Amino acid sequence: MFKHERVHLFVFIVLVGLQVLGVVGLLHRFELSYLPVMLVIFFLGGISTTLYLHRYLTHRGFEMPEWLKFIFASGSAIVLAGDPVMWVGDHRYHHLKSDTDEDIHSPIDGFPYAHMMWLVRKPAGFRERSKRYAADVRQIWYCRLWENSALYVLPHLFVATALFLSFGFSGMLWCLYVPMLVNYNVTWAVNSICHMSQFGYRSFDTSDQSRNNYLIGVIGLGEGFHNNHHNQPRCAAHGLRWWEFDGTRYVIWLLEKCGLAWDVVWPTSETEESEVSPSEAGAAVVISSQPETVA
Ligand SMILES: [Zn+2]
Ligand SMILES: [Zn+2]
Repeated sequence: MFKHERVHLFVFIVLVGLQVLGVVGLLHRFELSYLPVMLVIFFLGGISTTLYLHRYLTHRGFEMPEWLKFIFASGSAIVLAGDPVMWVGDHRYHHLKSDTDEDIHSPIDGFPYAHMMWLVRKPAGFRERSKRYAADVRQIWYCRLWENSALYVLPHLFVATALFLSFGFSGMLWCLYVPMLVNYNVTWAVNSICHMSQFGYRSFDTSDQSRNNYLIGVIGLGEGFHNNHHNQPRCAAHGLRWWEFDGTRYVIWLLEKCGLAWDVVWPTSETEESEVSPSEAGAAVVISSQPETVA
């Protein structure tokens, strides 16, 4: 949709710069003491994006306490996952227009565009449209505050400074920017690779090109089972079969057991029914068709 819009150099430099910090981190000496912090940042950044921004805030697949929402929202800001209003508005629009000329990040415009370049070419005017699609998110005080980029970057800068003072420059790169490099590219791969017919399999005959991709599913805490998600967007589970490992689903299940999540939209037995075996997972398999809905 934005393919012919001009490149926003500043956004490009920021997105590439953050990833370069991750790559530079990989070239620095690794110390075992970084590992626990790295894993915490990777998991917190990942789950804040998948559980909070996507399954809760965009699709309202469940409810949880306000303090927990704030923790996850802060987690997403620490890894600069994208301000919640824009994230939700953009993603709801994607569900409405998936793989049409109006989709904001379809690989029909090429892999680089669907992966990252749509963010770089998105015109300022589109922001107003996303705000309308995320009007409910704008009611949340901290999401409203974070529409201001200068305020949004504060949690990230705070954590980066703390890591620099604790572990030095190499430690900061390994603990923060290496996990972010993975988080970014796995999240973006859901938009690019999980809409490309060459990769993954289909369990549902949705009107878009969405695919379930096992590797992105596992690394992306379940988000790679994207065809399942397009079939039933509000469902809190994206991995439906026992072998579709969906880390986010298990966290929501655990929260529910602890009384910290409720009104969870779990799959109906109909959608969870397994008609494809792991060995068939590489092939395009159409099982059933359901109408697309948007939160
Ligand atoms: Zn999609
Ligand atoms: Zn979605």
